[in-house]
This record gives sequence, C-alpha cells and structure tokens, in this order.
Amino acid sequence: MHAIAVYEGESEPELIDLPRPDPDAGEALVRTLRVGVDGTDHEVISGGHGDYPAGTDHMVLGHEAVGVVEDANGTELSEGDVVVPTVRRRPNGDNAYFARGEPDMAPDGQYHERGIVGAHGFMAEYFTSPAESLVTVPPELAAHGFLVEPISITEKAVDHADASRSAFEWNPDSALVLGNGSLGLITLAMFEQRFDRTYCLGRRERPDPTIDIIESLGSTYVNSTETPVPEIPDAHEAPDLIYESTGYAKHPFESIEALAPNGVLAALGIPGDWDFEIEGGKLHRELVLHNKAVVGSVNSHVGHFEAAVDTLASLSDSFLDDLVTGIFELDDYEAAFVDDDRTIKNAIQFSEYEKRR
Ligand code: NAP
Ligand code: BGC
Ligand code: ZN
Repeated sequence: MHAIAVYEGESEPELIDLPRPDPDAGEALVRTLRVGVDGTDHEVISGGHGDYPAGTDHMVLGHEAVGVVEDANGTELSEGDVVVPTVRRRPNGDNAYFARGEPDMAPDGQYHERGIVGAHGFMAEYFTSPAESLVTVPPELAAHGFLVEPISITEKAVDHADASRSAFEWNPDSALVLGNGSLGLITLAMFEQRFDRTYCLGRRERPDPTIDIIESLGSTYVNSTETPVPEIPDAHEAPDLIYESTGYAKHPFESIEALAPNGVLAALGIPGDWDFEIEGGKLHRELVLHNKAVVGSVNSHVGHFEAAVDTLASLSDSFLDDLVTGIFELDDYEAAFVDDDRTIKNAIQFSEYEKRR
C-alpha cells in the first residue's frame, strides 16, 4: 500500500510502499479516507517537533484522519463504520493515564503520538488501531471527518479553561483567538456559537481569505502589526477568554495583562526555545489581583472527540467550504503540504467513501 512518510534528515515528505498492516487482537483494520495537514505536521517535517519511531529512519505522517472499518477483527466495531482515530497510544504497556482514559494528560515519555512522537501516523491507505481509540462518526460527516481531531483539541482546551473558572459565577461574553491558522479559525467558528463578541488576531493585510472567514463568522479581525495584543483592551475590549494558537511565545505573557478581570487564557501553541524579557512582577500581580487563570492544553481524549463530532455537525457548510482549501489525491500529495497564504486547511484523499447498501 502507499503511504506518505518523512525520512530523518529530509525536509520533504515522500510517497513510499509499505505492506498492508494486520490488526492485532483488540485492533481493527481501517481503510483511510482522508487525512488533514496542520501546523504540527509542518513542524514534524522540518524536524522542529516530534520523534521518529524507535529503530526507524522515517515516520509515516498524519494525525488528523477519518476512515472506514475494513476488518472489525472481533472488536465491537462493524465493517463499514466511519471512524476517527485518537492520536495518543501507550508507549510500552499500560500506565495510569491510559488506564483511566486520560492519555492527553500523560507527561513526556508516557505516550506516543501517531504521526508525531514515536509512532507512525495515518497517512497510509490502511492503518490499524485499538478499537478503544476509534470514535465512530455519522456517515454524513465522513467527508469532513478529518476535522474531528483539531476540533477535539479545542473541546479539551475549553473544558479546562471552563473548569478553571468553575468555582465562581463566570459569565464570559467575549473571546479573542490569537492566530488565523486552521486551529484558530476552527476555534473561532466554535466560539461564535457561544460568545456575544469574538475577535481573531493575525498579521496579514487584506485581501486575505482568512480575514474573509473571520468577518463572515461575524468576528472582528485584529491585525497584530497595527494593534498588538497589549493594545487590544483599549482598541476593542479586554476579553474574558483568550485562546492562543499562534505559537508566538510572547503572546501568552501579553495575554495575561490583556485579559478582563477573572478571565482565562488557554495556551495551545508549541513554540521553539526563545529567551526574552518579561515584566515578571507586573504579570504576577495581574494574575493575583484580578483572579486570572492560565491553562496550557495539549492533545485530547475520546470524550473530546465525541464532543467534536457533535460540534462538526453544527458547523455551517459555508464555513467548512471556506476553511477546506484543498482535498488532494494521493498522486498530487505534495500540493497538500504547500503552506502559502491561500492555504488554510488541506487534506489528502486516500480512498473514496462509499456508503454500504
Ligand atoms: P498554523 O497554521 O501555523 O497557524 C498559526 C497562525 O498564527 C498562522 O496563521 C500565523 O500567521 C499566525 N501567527 C503566528 N505568529 C503570529 C504573530 N506574531 N501575530 C499574529 N499572527 C501570528 O498552525 P495551526 O495548525 O493553526 O496550529 C496553531 C499552533 O497550535 C501551532 O503552534 C501548533 O503547533 C499548535 N497546536 C497545538 C495543539 C495542542 O494540542 N496544543 C494542537 C494543534 C496545534 P501567518 O500564516 O500569517 O504566518
Ligand atoms: C495534535 C495533538 C498533539 C499535539 C502535540 C497537535 O497538532 O493535534 O494531538 O498532541 O500536536 O504533539
Ligand atoms: Zn494537530
């Protein structure tokens, strides 16, 4: 079967041939439909994030997949089910995080991430997965099922942000998303359903397709080159919730001050090392005197995937059409990895979905 992999020391993905995998006990064999590409895939390809599977010089890419069960292999799944795999897997045997269904809370060394850290991903014509890590999706969502994983990332981050504000009556009505990449825009569409006023920060000039999406969602675009984060409270308002998805390491620190009193910052970006000065005393005081919270959030578990399936069903077709800028066939896979200002969310199609009769 065909698969898309990156070799150690290389900076471009390659099409390779691999044997079709056989499912072990408790695993199902899945025929891949589509796999999305995100900022993390670009970081994995460039060597900035992630790790190769032990003993190999390459990794099959991809962690945002949707597929159809080809062989249920005695699991509770049925052939023909449309499924989305979660990302984290046990590294060597069980650990407490996996045992209680919270692999997303496992620290380094206690997980693998398919297509990112220590395990091959889903960019192959077939993949196997433990049935417990496959979330079923209604067939009508098959075409956009590769968005369940990124949506689940925000389901988790918002759960944690809300939990941090659950000890008092918190009535947020404004939210700011930092970053107009695919994660930022997906999150903005989710926030539009919940908050009275939303803002999204990028660094692009008009005309730009992401700004068109932001405005079509009824949100306000903030250009960081004109209005950097510290100026947002005066230019607009101090938001109750800030969701950071730029990976720009100054943003979380700037956000602490920009938040409204009692507000919460959810930090999602994964920056490289960067030393810079911060006004530590001021930030510390700000957190304490205004009851602010900062939550870091990575990955997501089955419950977040299930919530994400419902969220996907609630997103408008027009938003999804604008967000998904390309579905590329396997023989044109290179185009899916182009990351220019016209690209928002691309996916690679490994096979077509045919409904069972
Ligand atoms: P992406 O497509 O690269 O999006 C990042 C966006 O932020 C880009 O649109 C970029 O603008 C914008 N940006 C970067 N620096 C900026 C600045 N200083 N001012 C204004 N805008 C800025 O990546 P993504 O897939 O959406 O993911 C976003 C981040 O979240 C990445 O760091 C990724 O690693 C991380 N992530 C984390 C998780 C998690 O579980 N925590 C999950 C998925 C992704 P331009 O395009 O104009 O450069
Ligand atoms: C993936 C997460 C993963 C994170 C860190 C993100 O792009 O969506 O599942 O935990 O990267 O590797
Ligand atoms: Zn991702």
